[in-house]
Order: sequence, then C-alpha cells, then structure tokens
Amino acid sequence: MRRIFDFFKSFLLLELLSGLKVTLVNLFKRKTTIQYPEEKTPLSPRFRGLHALRRYPNGEERCIGCKLCEAVCPALAITIETEEREDNTRRTTRYEIDMTKCIYCGFCEESCPVDSIVETNIHEYHGEQRGDLYFTKEMLLAVGDRYEAQIAADREKDAKYR
Ligand code: SF4
Ligand code: SF4
Repeated sequence: MRRIFDFFKSFLLLELLSGLKVTLVNLFKRKTTIQYPEEKTPLSPRFRGLHALRRYPNGEERCIGCKLCEAVCPALAITIETEEREDNTRRTTRYEIDMTKCIYCGFCEESCPVDSIVETNIHEYHGEQRGDLYFTKEMLLAVGDRYEAQIAADREKDAKYR
C-alpha cells in the first residue's frame, strides 16, 4: 500500500507542488533579507568593530598608559609601552593591537578609565598581506580622528546605560 502511495506521490509531482506552494506563500510576505552591501541593517551604538584610540578636543591623547586594557585582554592582543613626559604625565610610546588575535569581546573598552580605546561600528575592513591587521598607535589614532563624531554620538546614545 505504501509503495502505491509513494508511486502516485511521485507521479503527480506532489512534492514539487508542495514546494511551489511554500514559494508562493512567501512571495508576498515582508522581506527579511537585504541586498548587502548596497543595503545595510542598522547597527547598535554598542557594536564592537574596529578599534580606535581617541583624543580630547584639544588634541591631547586620552590614553594615560595605565595598561588596564592590556591586562584585561583575554586574547593577549594588546601591547603597550609607556614613558613619563617632562610634565610628569605618562603616555604610551607603543600601543598596538593584533586584530588577528582579537575576539572583539569589548573588555578593553570597558576597562578604560578615560574612554580612550573604543570599538567603533566599522566592520568592513580587511587585510591582504601579513601584518595588515596589526594596528599601531598611529593607525588607531587615525581611526579615532577620522570617526570621532560617530564614536562620540554612539557613546552619547549609550551613556545612560553605562
Ligand atoms: S576586544 Fe577583547 S580581545 Fe579584542 S583587544 Fe579588546 S580586550 Fe582584547
Ligand atoms: S587605552 Fe585606556 S585602559 Fe588602555 S592603557 Fe590607555 S588609558 Fe589605560
């Protein structure tokens, strides 16, 4: 009996028709996919993308070289060296993040007492050669300088939850 049923099921293309029915039903439903990269979904202000080092409005680096971010990083992706300046303040002479090690956990950002190291909403970046994703202090500061308006706006939106 079962075999006869299966025969007629194949013969009448019932499975094909049931598949087409699913297509037809979904054809007029609201789309849940987008045409990336032309279309993009909104990103949370807490999105954890490419890192940046920020400055104060007077151009001074925020980072005070406390190394909390380096200590908390579970992937050991951050390397910092510091020195004392003539005015007795401490600043980094080396600040590097190996993005190939980074797991984008956000601990560095959370631990920073002066909002210096942050993760931006930039996620469309890549490297083509070995070392391209090894971000130096100058590169991180350049990201911060370029996207400061966006970074500040995202922190403003999230301020009441922090
Ligand atoms: S996001 Fe996490 S893994 Fe990446 S550098 Fe910061 S602390 Fe390390
Ligand atoms: S980025 Fe922040 S946590 Fe890391 S060394 Fe600088 S001040 Fe300290």
